[in-house]
Parts: sequence; structure tokens; C-alpha cells
Amino acid sequence: MITTTAFPIQLLVLEDDPGLQSFLHTLLQSQGYQSMIQAEGQQGFALLKNHSFDLILLDLGLADMDGIEWLQQLRSWSEVPVIVISARGKEQDKVRALDSGANDYVTKPFSSAELLARVRATLRQQQKTAKPLAFADIKLDPVQRIVTKAGEQVHLTKTEYDILLLLVRHLGSALTHNQILQQVWGEHYQDRPEYIRVHMAQLRQKLEDNPSAPRHLKTEAGVGYRLCE
Ligand code: CA
Repeated sequence: MITTTAFPIQLLVLEDDPGLQSFLHTLLQSQGYQSMIQAEGQQGFALLKNHSFDLILLDLGLADMDGIEWLQQLRSWSEVPVIVISARGKEQDKVRALDSGANDYVTKPFSSAELLARVRATLRQQQKTAKPLAFADIKLDPVQRIVTKAGEQVHLTKTEYDILLLLVRHLGSALTHNQILQQVWGEHYQDRPEYIRVHMAQLRQKLEDNPSAPRHLKTEAGVGYRLCE
């Protein structure tokens, strides 16, 4: 399959079985997907701080923690789609995973064809719900992670993009420093407004007509930031 997006689709695979790790890596690569594979949930969280993934494949018995717990933690700050792949085939396991925020559940052993079909279905669903977002002459495409200003592409770092996406999704509302820190950096980050300040300055440089008197990326003194139309 040739992907039609500008960037390859990135998957995070959390699986501690070395045989399945290499099987999944080869299978995903054969379809043009890029994947990063980790055996431990904590390593997965560390990767999520610095990388954007389109989809996560999650084994429930990880090397360091239970996959359901991992999923529940993830869902407190991220909506990235998750397909659980597990040997646990009981109805109650599936119900618990889906109620904890899994988008789909595949029971081991599974066929390559079935897993790939479920990956495609989940990505399609994600594309349907991910509408382009816009304010003023600036447009974000959350599927391709492209930002344009007056039709010209603007190159943002991952952190800049994530902050902007969060603000656009809450257009007109003030977001506190801690809301931004937890959504963009992760749940353990708080009370570090200086982390945001440097990225916000860069965003203003790239997106505002007059960065020193921003019309859109407004500071809410003592609170956080607000994006205005
Ligand atoms: Ca396992």
C-alpha cells in the first residue's frame, strides 16, 4: 500500500514478546507504515513525549505494567487511537479494554490480514473525525500535521504544532499553563510556565503579522494563553 499522506503513518507498538515484535515490525513496514517498538509501558510514555503517533498497538501484558493501566493513563491526556492486541480473549477483558478507551481489540493469535484491516479501519475512522481546523488565514490539517498561513506551508516543531493544535481546539477559551503542560508535555508536567513561553514566542514569530503585538496568540496574564479568531 502506498500512503497518500505527506508523511508516513507512524505507529507505536508496545509488545514484550521478541518474536511478535519483529513480526509486527516487518508486517507494518511491508505496508509503508513506520513503527517504533517498545516492551515497556514507561518507555512508551517516554516516546510519546517526543514523537507523534497516528496509532498505537498495545499488548496487555507488558514487561513493566498492565496494558489496561497504561491505556487509562494515556487516555487522561491523549486521544491517539489504540488497538489492543492480546491473548486475553474473554468477553470481560475486551469490555474492560474498550471501556478504558481502546478503539479496537484483536485477540492473539491473529492473522496478518485481519490486523492490517483493523489498522486501516481505525486510521480511516480517525481521518473522518479529524476535520481541518482554522483561524484567520491559518489552517491546520491534523491528519497530515501541516499548517498553512495564507496558503503557504509554515514549518513548526512538534511541540509548537501540539500547542497550536490544542489552542485551536479550544479557540476563544483561555487555557491555563498547567492544562497546556499536561496536554503537550505529559501528565507529570506542571508549574513550569517557562517551558511554554519559548515555544509561544516561536509560534508568534511564525504565525503573527506583528509578533510583538499578537492578534491571535494572546497571553492571559497570570493564567495562560488564549487563541483568538
Ligand atoms: Ca506480553
